[in-house]
Amino acid sequence: MIPVAFDYVAPTSVEDALAALAQHGDDAKIIAGGQSLLPVLRMRLNAPEMIIDLGKIESLRGVRDDGDAIVVGAMTPHSVVGSDPLVAEHAALVAKAIEHLADAQVRHRGTFGGALAHADPAGDLGAPALALGAEFVIQGAGGTRTVAADDFFVDLFETAIGEDEILTAVRIPKRTGWGAHYEKFVRVAHQWPIVAVAATVRVDGGSIAEARIGLTNMGSTPVRARAVEDALAGQPATEDAVRAAAQQAAAGTDPPSDLNGAADYRRHLARVLTRRAVLAAAGAA
Ligand SMILES: Cc1cc2nc3c(=O)[nH]c(=O)nc-3n(C[C@H](O)[C@H](O)[C@H](O)COP(=O)(O)OP(=O)(O)OC[C@H]3O[C@@H](n4cnc5c(N)ncnc54)[C@H](O)[C@@H]3O)c2cc1C
Repeated sequence: MIPVAFDYVAPTSVEDALAALAQHGDDAKIIAGGQSLLPVLRMRLNAPEMIIDLGKIESLRGVRDDGDAIVVGAMTPHSVVGSDPLVAEHAALVAKAIEHLADAQVRHRGTFGGALAHADPAGDLGAPALALGAEFVIQGAGGTRTVAADDFFVDLFETAIGEDEILTAVRIPKRTGWGAHYEKFVRVAHQWPIVAVAATVRVDGGSIAEARIGLTNMGSTPVRARAVEDALAGQPATEDAVRAAAQQAAAGTDPPSDLNGAADYRRHLARVLTRRAVLAAAGAA
């Protein structure tokens, strides 16, 4: 279908984009890579009167070193983030997840910030962002605020970004030397995950000193597998120890039942994929 007619602006600064948002209120919608928004418009699930394109705002692009963290501009395409050397060195989990995100075309158009702002519970970037303890930099008319990953994902397709605000960057604390792995379960290649597990671990002398694990599509938002993280701390990085800890992967989750799988099946997947992801991450550390 063809979208309902809309007006279009492409400001060159965040301030101008915010002014356009303030002027058009509920009638406006931001577009980043358009990989999720355009299908929504074409299906006429949303009919904004004004589209505000962030594509010409250079300050929203790129990855930079910021001392104890790396900062990823919201408009940086997945393909750029996934091949960035700073990401590979300090936030390998993000690079691992992007390897499995959609196909090459989508990775070239879709943006890091757009995917996180969209907050699809099956999206591949939420769980890594949660596991890495990312912070979301959000700008509005009143200034800039930073929201922790634990508070960013509010519900299905809902985040802490206000209607008059823009996500400008994501700050990811460095986890240099940590092993990382993203284990995604799909029926055919390039699909959204039925369930996926993002795991990053710090191994010290053959033991797992610290583990951080995020689950994709096990609820209306990405969730941390905290029971597994606690169970893994101080354990040897062996198949038996990781298998035992991974049994708790579904604790506290509320997975959906749909055509791709029942909730119970997803709980089973979470346990199996968590074991695989943690063992692979420990092996890479
Ligand atoms: C065929 C196909 C397969 C895909 N497969 C996968 C997959 O396997 N895994 C996966 O994770 N994703 C997948 N995607 C989605 C892809 O990751 C998109 O890039 C992503 O969901 C949206 O990013 P975008 O930059 O295109 O955002 P857009 O589509 O432009 O925007 C998405 C939403 O976020 C809002 N928004 C965007 N940027 C900002 C901002 N800076 N501040 C505030 N609000 C903002 C928009 O208003 C809109 O509501 C797929 C997409 C397609 C088309």
